[in-house]
Amino acid sequence: MEVVYRHLEGVPLTSTYVFEVAGVKVAVDPGPASLHTPLDVDAVLCTHLHLDHCGSAGFYNRVYAHERYVKHLEDPTALFQASRAVLGIFADKFGQPPPASDVRPVSDGMKLFQAIEAIYTPGHAPHHVMYLHRDEKILFVGDGAGVYLPELKAIIPTTPPVFKLDLYMASLEKVKKLDISQLCFPHYSCTRDVELLDIHLRQVETWVDVLREVETVEEGLEKLRRSDENVAKVLELGGLYLEFYLRFSVLGFLDYIRHVRL
Ligand SMILES: [Zn+2]
Repeated sequence: MEVVYRHLEGVPLTSTYVFEVAGVKVAVDPGPASLHTPLDVDAVLCTHLHLDHCGSAGFYNRVYAHERYVKHLEDPTALFQASRAVLGIFADKFGQPPPASDVRPVSDGMKLFQAIEAIYTPGHAPHHVMYLHRDEKILFVGDGAGVYLPELKAIIPTTPPVFKLDLYMASLEKVKKLDISQLCFPHYSCTRDVELLDIHLRQVETWVDVLREVETVEEGLEKLRRSDENVAKVLELGGLYLEFYLRFSVLGFLDYIRHVRL
């Protein structure tokens, strides 16, 4: 399997996995429109529509995405506006997606190219799908299992608003039951440490406990620093991992907690 790394301002942003299955060359999450360089593939699989994952999908034929959101790839105007409202300057850095002309709807349990199974995994986003390569036992987790930072030996949630904690946990429980030997994270690499699914699930439970009584993102980060060593490592390093993932993830939790009054 080939990995194509996209960097934003010198920092890794998205890893695209390219491989052949049943004679079809596919790419999982081609990356943002602003960092597009053409991939020699027949089809593109979108784990979800967020700009850093599938913003460049419109440059390709045969784009696969969750069935209820096909229209947002065909006309990405509303998607881009909504992304700007949440992500601010990051939406502009990821670029405006071009419209896609050939989007194929994906539903839960659907088989693609004989060996790939789509697994509907909402929570991070309502259009989130993981892809299981059944022959290789690889799960392409999208943003449904956190951000894996091998250089820090750390994993952190990526849960920007609108985050649905209950659906996210249910999705994690669902994929934990699968027969898998490898996880591939678009942020940022594959690992045979499939225990990360469990570790991340417990991490999310810790975050809920810590953030329940918190008012602001800054206060949340300070409290998490003391209870989650992954957060402490990212705060130490700073940069994109902090400004993009960590801050928006805490915001997503606070937003959820406020709405459901946990
Ligand atoms: Zn995402």
